Amino acid sequence: MIKNSDTIAAIATAPGVGAVGIVRVSGDDAIGVIGRVFRPFPGDMISHKMYYGKIFRDDDFIDEVMVCYMKSPRSFTCEDCIEIYGHGGMFVLSEVLSTVIENGARLAEPGEFTKRAFLNGRLNLAQAEAVADLIGAKTAAARRAALRQLGGGLSHRLKFSRDKILSWLAHIELSIDYPEHEEEARNASEILGEADAVINDLQKLAETVNVGKIIREGVRTAIVGRPNVGKSTLLNAILHENRAIVHETAGTTRDVLTEEVRVADVPLVIMDTAGLRETNDPIEKIGIEKTHEAALDAELILYVADATEGLTAEDFNTIKSFSKNKNILILMNKSDITSGHGIQGDGSSVLELHETEELPPCIPISAKTGEGLEELFSHIRDLFFAGNIGTGGETDIITRERHRILLAQAITHLQNAKRELHEGIPEDLVSVSLRATYIALGEILGVEIGDDIVDRIFAEFCVGK
Ligand code: GDP
Ligand code: MG
Repeated sequence: MIKNSDTIAAIATAPGVGAVGIVRVSGDDAIGVIGRVFRPFPGDMISHKMYYGKIFRDDDFIDEVMVCYMKSPRSFTCEDCIEIYGHGGMFVLSEVLSTVIENGARLAEPGEFTKRAFLNGRLNLAQAEAVADLIGAKTAAARRAALRQLGGGLSHRLKFSRDKILSWLAHIELSIDYPEHEEEARNASEILGEADAVINDLQKLAETVNVGKIIREGVRTAIVGRPNVGKSTLLNAILHENRAIVHETAGTTRDVLTEEVRVADVPLVIMDTAGLRETNDPIEKIGIEKTHEAALDAELILYVADATEGLTAEDFNTIKSFSKNKNILILMNKSDITSGHGIQGDGSSVLELHETEELPPCIPISAKTGEGLEELFSHIRDLFFAGNIGTGGETDIITRERHRILLAQAITHLQNAKRELHEGIPEDLVSVSLRATYIALGEILGVEIGDDIVDRIFAEFCVGK
């Protein structure tokens, strides 16, 4: 518990108008502050009970509210906490907040409530990050991953590995310092046997960062193709709204439109772009330039072609110009007015290319009727959430670069330890590598190995009895 901390306050609900809005106050003087602004003040407030009353600034009646006191440590921050439930307009809420601040609280910094929860041991660092992720979650998958991390799924998994490493360290130190207890100490080969499983587990966890990043940030997706093939119609169909102007005139879309949407649980940041063609229109030219930039930046390209015309040589050249390792799906649009697959296109050169080059998956769709969209969505899901990494709540997923870097460090140190054991390098050197692994994993949770660790190690054994 941090002592002598300021009492902080902030509006806890989202900006905007709602039926109810909450001002949160946390710190040693939370009760003192509320006592100066809330009438009738019940004096001895009972924890976790709602009180009805009014907020006053001197004799000015500010709002009619409910107030709840959460006594330390049974609150989000582990400190004394007060929540004031007022009317949900931004003006009235900011009046309540400024009244509270004039009466002894200080305006909280961003994230300060969660920071206090972490400093007070209520949450570890990974869980504190999960709070931020949960608040920022835009999809069900992101929410589930954050909830799981908040619930301690990731922490348990890391603690399991850390405990293993700690017990190896204990045995190594035991055999160094008390060679007469050698029979209690496990030999290198036993540790070697277990190390692989831990490395394996950490590697699996590290691999989830891609899914984690997608869940947090979305897949940058560009809809690209020649004019009039139905790109804007496709965007509207995916969004279920008329976001982009659709018109039979070629060159309608001139700017990049960006929207966020979720398909088959995959969050997409999707961009509709100007159709690619030769043009003399200076504005359209700029638009086409932006299309190229969007395609370059995208992690997924939805290349739309007109099935009634087939895949033209121009289409092929554009597709070929995209980087080989990009995810590309070719969508043969307007399948409602054509029967075939439509890849044949406009000439033999196309067919040759088709035969010699590896063509990205080709999906017939109709942006107009919605035909084929489900298939498109399941393709997208397979591309990004393939394998056994589910997006359900059952899998631990790391969502942050910080976690990935620390996991990579931990894996390297552990591999070093393994190699050192293998080569018969003195055990005190091996324990340096093991400690480094332990520290890196601890940093993910925000805990570090301290001097007391030595005490803990030996407390496990009956040495010195
Ligand atoms: P963009 O230039 O690629 O953005 O194409 P638009 O979305 O503006 O569409 C161009 C024209 O094609 C419009 O008249 C649309 O109504 C039509 N269109 C788009 N998708 C389809 C489709 O799936 N089927 C049919 N029949 N027409 C479509
Ligand atoms: Mg368009």
